[in-house]
Amino acid sequence: MDKKFVFMFDQAGSSEKELLGGKGANLAEMTRIGLPVPYGFTISTAACNAYFEAGQVISSQVEMQVIEALQTLEAKTGKRLGDPTNPLLVSVRSGAVHSMPGMMDTVLNLGMNDETVEGMAELTNNSRFAYDSYRRFIQMFSNVVLGLDNYYFERHLEDTREEKGYHSDTELTAEDWKQVIKEFKTIVLTYTKKSFPEDPREQLFLTINAVFDSWNNQRAVLYRRLHHIPGHLGTAVNIQSMVFGNMGEDSGTGVAFTRNPSTGESELYGEYLINAQGEDVVAGIRTPQPIASLEQDMPDVYQQLLETCQLLENHYQDMQDIEFTVESGKLFILQTRTGKRTAQAAIRIAVEMVRENIMDKRHALLRVDPDQLDQLLHHRIDPEHNLTKLAAGLPASPGAATGQVVFDADEAEVLSKDGKKVILVRPETTPEDIHGIVASQATITSRGGMTSHAAVVARGMGKACICGCESLKINLDSKQFNVESTTVKHGDTITIDGTTGEIFLGEIPMIEPELSDEFKLLLSWADEETKMGVRANADNSVDAQKALEFGAVGIGLCRTEHMFMDSSRIPTVQSMILSETMEERKEALDKLLPMQQQDFETIFETMQGHPITIRLLDPPLHEFLPDKEDLLIEVTKLQMKNADASELQEKQNILRKVRLLEESNPMLGLRGCRLAMIHPEIYEMQVKAIFNATANVMKRGIKVKPEIMIPLVSHVNELKEMRQLVNQMAEQAKDETGQEFDYQIGTMIETPRAALTADQIAEKADFFSFGTNDLTQTTFGYSRDDAEGKFLQHYVENNVLPRNPFVSLDQEGVGKLVESGVELGRKANPVLKTGICGEHGGEKESIQFCFDLGMDYVSCSPFRVPSARLAAAQATIRNEQRKAMKVPQYN
Ligand code: PEP
Ligand code: MG
Repeated sequence: MDKKFVFMFDQAGSSEKELLGGKGANLAEMTRIGLPVPYGFTISTAACNAYFEAGQVISSQVEMQVIEALQTLEAKTGKRLGDPTNPLLVSVRSGAVHSMPGMMDTVLNLGMNDETVEGMAELTNNSRFAYDSYRRFIQMFSNVVLGLDNYYFERHLEDTREEKGYHSDTELTAEDWKQVIKEFKTIVLTYTKKSFPEDPREQLFLTINAVFDSWNNQRAVLYRRLHHIPGHLGTAVNIQSMVFGNMGEDSGTGVAFTRNPSTGESELYGEYLINAQGEDVVAGIRTPQPIASLEQDMPDVYQQLLETCQLLENHYQDMQDIEFTVESGKLFILQTRTGKRTAQAAIRIAVEMVRENIMDKRHALLRVDPDQLDQLLHHRIDPEHNLTKLAAGLPASPGAATGQVVFDADEAEVLSKDGKKVILVRPETTPEDIHGIVASQATITSRGGMTSHAAVVARGMGKACICGCESLKINLDSKQFNVESTTVKHGDTITIDGTTGEIFLGEIPMIEPELSDEFKLLLSWADEETKMGVRANADNSVDAQKALEFGAVGIGLCRTEHMFMDSSRIPTVQSMILSETMEERKEALDKLLPMQQQDFETIFETMQGHPITIRLLDPPLHEFLPDKEDLLIEVTKLQMKNADASELQEKQNILRKVRLLEESNPMLGLRGCRLAMIHPEIYEMQVKAIFNATANVMKRGIKVKPEIMIPLVSHVNELKEMRQLVNQMAEQAKDETGQEFDYQIGTMIETPRAALTADQIAEKADFFSFGTNDLTQTTFGYSRDDAEGKFLQHYVENNVLPRNPFVSLDQEGVGKLVESGVELGRKANPVLKTGICGEHGGEKESIQFCFDLGMDYVSCSPFRVPSARLAAAQATIRNEQRKAMKVPQYN
């Protein structure tokens, strides 16, 4: 049997979204449930793909099936395409699997020509309507199919209106339209060197080709890229008999949402125009009426529309966005689809639909996109305000902020203590700038990617951040930056939107974050379903408190180096690193010990018995040291002014040590556990601080069971040695404090070798936490600090990579290592706990992947915890649905 490419709306089996596109499947569905849908048929996405495979040619098989379907449509309507006395007119619309509103093409009133227009005039007894419809068709067809700029037609219309002294198109008479049509045809002949095609079948096939082609127009390609829609899906084409909203005062057309898409309120929301066709509403030439006034204009139609909206919402169990037309008092539904909505509306709709028994809690949880929740947890720019964008970079940490531009972390701290709001602008940030990031409203860097230092730190704090904004030419000497010809000086006010990566000049009004009761209720439903824990990455008690507030069940990553970065501690940290002898280093470490211990005590107290994974020191040591270039300048200045010899010598000495610590590839150098393999006294101090804090807090009656995590292990021998170190320190602490306590020792899996030898490593580990930031860096061989700014964006834009692997876990590559790491680890150690703490731990698709591997928890920054809780619940529900062979339909 021949493959079926064309499906009538009422044909059995014609409800597959993949094959028919969203619009086609819904038209078929609405026809089946008896709604007033103009009859028609759908050419499948498979036909579109076949068209492209054949080099943009419609096969004879598809052509035959279209003609057959057309004959069925003609029989059903009693009209014929091209029949001068009783012509059938059709609309030809695109319809992809995922809704891509306005991205592809549509042609209305197809089938009109010099003969059928007269038939239409006679049939409707309305020649003005017939000629207006004809000119609309010529205009749309010429634009969409023949590629002529709409401008030629609009300019001509404008000239005509002016010449006749009319204010709007509605004033043009049938005779005027006849003249316009003649001139439109001349425009077509002039610019395409061909006459306008009069044969309706030729019109039809040319339009089908054009709609297929529109799958690859620039808008559609860009939209797919932004929404991660695969390019191979293709679009379906829907051919439907026309109904006319422009037949007079008892006709009209409009759009209705079954609930308010902005607030979620349960009310019919939308607008309509009397005596108009769909494009009039979109074009904005006439101002549409709010849907409520349809109740007065056409009470019966309004009632019918209300009932239909209710029916469709109940049927699809979701808020619908519906297009309708009223032709001579009769209502037709042209399209229904899941309505786009704000995060606030999404939550309210989901919760209220459960209360109204339209769906159960599990369905409600699947209806909200975890990514959207971000919008509600950060300040937002007031969308009502007019914006002029200055530049854009990577949207590294969401939220919006306004402040004065500063270029130095110390100054940011000083100004913020004076109550000023500042935005820190740097070429990049290092751990030395952390106090500046803390003090600022937001941070911008011109270099670095989504997992660069500034990005990770800012996300951890829930502060807005834009990274890799390469169009910013920063001049630290003159304290200003340029974006092309615009100069922004130190102290100037700017506003940024970390959710979109955009930077604006001046101050823009903000909207406060909203944490509604419905939002909390939805998350409580999520927790009832979830079979995987959500922890937070938190390094201090403020973040820990936030994590608990947002519902984290523990801390999955406490990066201890962040505790070293307090500006008051940096001198001690520096003297520890610069020590020439063990005694000197021990002295510095002894000073750091009580500070670290106090930090841990505060976090343990805040977390009140919830589990905490503490990662021992990780970054390269030289990151804590003064900048080499700055030192060089200072030494040169001292030399030039013949400064005191001892002062000069001291600076030279520091410079020498900084040079000694410098590495060509610091990300692959003396980091993580390697640091402690060479200088065990550093980890000894940290572990001592953890265990002393544990004993002290336990004595205060609070449960503590620290999980000590060794970073960047590549070989089991590293973990063996570190395990021994931790155990020895535990025994020592128990002896010294007289307090018994439990603890666990685990490791991060951050290198391919660790993942591949996870069985050996698991024998020495109580838990694994996958550090997918480093694992992505080491698997791809991409520097996490440079790749995004230099080439990753290009890769994603040009489909070399489907997604940025630092944002969404590369399941085919890095994911394989994670999978084998979990499997090998569990085989060797069946009670091994597994989790993820890289940035991917807060991203919905990566969370689903981790759930499918059976991980015990994901960990992400506190501000991502709510969306991770929802994503974890969705992963659980989908997994169970899959098991029951009921794959959910995603809209
Ligand atoms: C990681 O590498 O994924 C990780 C969590 O550690 P960090 O980002 O601190 O290197
Ligand atoms: Mg790491």
